[in-house]
Parts: sequence; structure tokens; C-alpha cells
Amino acid sequence: MQTANAVVMAQRFIKPKLLTASLVVDATAGNGKDTLFLADSTPNTTVVWAFDIQAQALTKTNELLTKHKLADKVHLVLDSHAHMHQYIKQPVDAAMFNLGYLPGGDHEVSTSSETTIQAVSQTLQLLRPEGLITIVAYPGYEHGRVELQDILHYFTSLSQKEFTVACWSIVNQKNSPPILYLIEKNEE
Ligand code: SAH
Repeated sequence: MQTANAVVMAQRFIKPKLLTASLVVDATAGNGKDTLFLADSTPNTTVVWAFDIQAQALTKTNELLTKHKLADKVHLVLDSHAHMHQYIKQPVDAAMFNLGYLPGGDHEVSTSSETTIQAVSQTLQLLRPEGLITIVAYPGYEHGRVELQDILHYFTSLSQKEFTVACWSIVNQKNSPPILYLIEKNEE
């Protein structure tokens, strides 16, 4: 049985950053799995921000958080992650992006290069030293392939002095499995 994939690995890499986090972000709430993971893996006092442009996604996320009695620590925002700087003014300890479309939802409503790059760029400005951003990208379909190429171009342009950008992917699987990118802000 397959035990690792990009989504699981994103959680594994980010978990150590959550133990002492004050503020964390789920940039793509979707069905709420990462939002729940962030709320569940951080101290009680941590504030979690979760963004999505679809009300349907936030309804699902809210249901999941309520079921686990974790809704109180989460701010759900029905807006593009490209407007993140309008909501978040404090330093960010960790942030997760899971790109693409909502499984079971409208496949036309997907993340896109321009807004993803804007949102990652804003998160990097807010990120604390040693803070981590995870981005799961989906090269298995045309729109996702283009988005991945565009974001990779942006990632490779980031200053190596300020950031360490890495990736994790499975190399023996058919149909272009998702790829995880990790951006850590270097110590000052
Ligand atoms: N591809 C993943 C799930 C991704 S869900 C999987 O297969 O499990 C991605 C979510 O991002 C969707 O719910 C979608 O509505 C949301 N989204 C798309 N563009 C967005 C934007 N600009 N800001 C915030 N959320 C966005």
C-alpha cells in the first residue's frame, strides 16, 4: 500500500513548525483536510487563517472543524488568497497551498498561476525566519501543468540567500503524480 504522497508529505514536513506556531495559513481550504490538520497540530492559542473562493469549500471546512471542536481558532475567509495581505498583518509561521480544483466540485474553478504566485509572494513577505510554506502542484492535467511550470519559474528566481526552495516527488508512478514544493525562510 502507498503510504506517502505529496499531500501527506506536506503535513509531515510542516508538522515540526506547528508546535510553537502563533499564526498559520491554509491558502486553499478545499475540503478542509489541511485546515483541520493545522488547527489540530498547533497550540490552543494559535490562530489559523483559511482562504477559499468557493462558499461550498468553506462550508465543508467549517463542518469538519466543528465536528472536531476546532472551529473557534480558525478564521475562514471567502476571498482569494491573492488578497491575503488585507487580512493578515502578523508574522506567519507556516502556510499550506494545495493547488488545483476542489475534488467533487467544479473543475473550472481552479487555482491559477498569477494569483498563486501573488499569494505565495505575500506569504513569503510575512513568513518568519525558519518558517515554511508547502505547495502541492498537480501536473497530471493541462491547466495544472501550466501552473506548475509558471510557479516553478517563480520559485527558481527566489534569492538563495533568503530562501531555500526544495521539492519532493514520487519518481516511479504513472500519470504525473502531484509534486510538493517546500520554501523555507533562512535564518537571519
Ligand atoms: N487538488 C486538491 C484539492 C485542491 S482544492 C486535491 O485533489 O485534493 C483547491 C481549492 O482552492 C479549491 O477549493 C478552490 O476553490 C480553491 N481556490 C482556487 N483559487 C483560489 C484562490 N485564488 N484563493 C483561494 N482559494 C482558491
